[in-house]
Amino acid sequence: MTVGVRRYCAAVIDLHTHSACSDGSDTPTELAARAAAAGLTAIALTDHDTTASHDEMAAACDRHGVELVAGVEVSLRDTTVTRRDADGNEHPINVHVLAYFAPMDPASALQRALADLRFDREARNRELVDLLVSMGFTRLTLPYLVDLAGRVDTIGRPHFARAMTELHPEIVGPAGPDSTSRIFAEWLGTGGRAYIPKTERTIEEFVSAGAGDGVVFSIAHPLLNYGLEDHESIAVRGPGLFSSLRDRGLTGVEAYYGGTTAETRRVVLKVTRDVGMVPTGGSDYHGTYKPDVALAKGRYGDLHVPDEVLVELKSARN
Ligand code: AMP
Ligand code: ZN
Ligand code: FE
Ligand code: FE
Repeated sequence: MTVGVRRYCAAVIDLHTHSACSDGSDTPTELAARAAAAGLTAIALTDHDTTASHDEMAAACDRHGVELVAGVEVSLRDTTVTRRDADGNEHPINVHVLAYFAPMDPASALQRALADLRFDREARNRELVDLLVSMGFTRLTLPYLVDLAGRVDTIGRPHFARAMTELHPEIVGPAGPDSTSRIFAEWLGTGGRAYIPKTERTIEEFVSAGAGDGVVFSIAHPLLNYGLEDHESIAVRGPGLFSSLRDRGLTGVEAYYGGTTAETRRVVLKVTRDVGMVPTGGSDYHGTYKPDVALAKGRYGDLHVPDEVLVELKSARN
């Protein structure tokens, strides 16, 4: 009974969230209010390739008494792994990496690396519009996407999915709870007909840009990144994949990921601890862009990221 009460009262944090400065729908101010209402003691806002949300989020978190961890999520090439397609051809893969305690100085190496990644994102976005138009999405335009996302270098594939649904329901079907995942499976996702990798910049390059500034890195949603589809493949391939990332300067593995079930999280947690890494966690909340994912609670409503992992992350800073 006592244990149950303690578990219920344990402080809960969320270290993976998106705002309208990338492909979430909440402004940083709205997100901070939602974090307070959800009872979070700490939150990391991890927009894609940008920390533009930071100042507004810091002020709002201050008002609500929620600790803010300066974060960002980036897509990077993992040169040690390839993906085999249905025809047996090998392709390079990109994975998502979370960076915590990011410096805000625009002259810092990490901020310059983020600017490079936004440059690559903008180029990908322009290319992807052209490709989709050539595939029949003739009403899709860059200004339409900018209207959803704010800027060319903050457009993400969820904005593309929304625009494709709004402009071309005759191709992708009407809006519904599974329309985004259908569009990713057929068009935008890895291996889809219109998949364009965002960047060739590597994990090693990005990690070295954080050196000396106390940045701590964690591999985001490792199962999605590496195609670990069941518990057996996590147990078999996980130790080698995670320890290789550890040797390349990553501290954490996002073991408490909001898109996975409690049972799967336990399997990832064990492999993370076995290789001496810190389990990080978060919901990957995107507001209306991922309506089935709740802040703090994830897709299945049972996510609890313990605040102790933040203490561990802080002590890994150097
Ligand atoms: P981008 O930053 O443009 O590469 O888009 C990445 C975003 O697309 C991620 O943050 C996810 O929110 C979303 N995403 C990636 N894969 C999928 C998928 N299979 N289904 C739905 N959303 C996805
Ligand atoms: Zn996203
Ligand atoms: Fe991601
Ligand atoms: Fe994310």
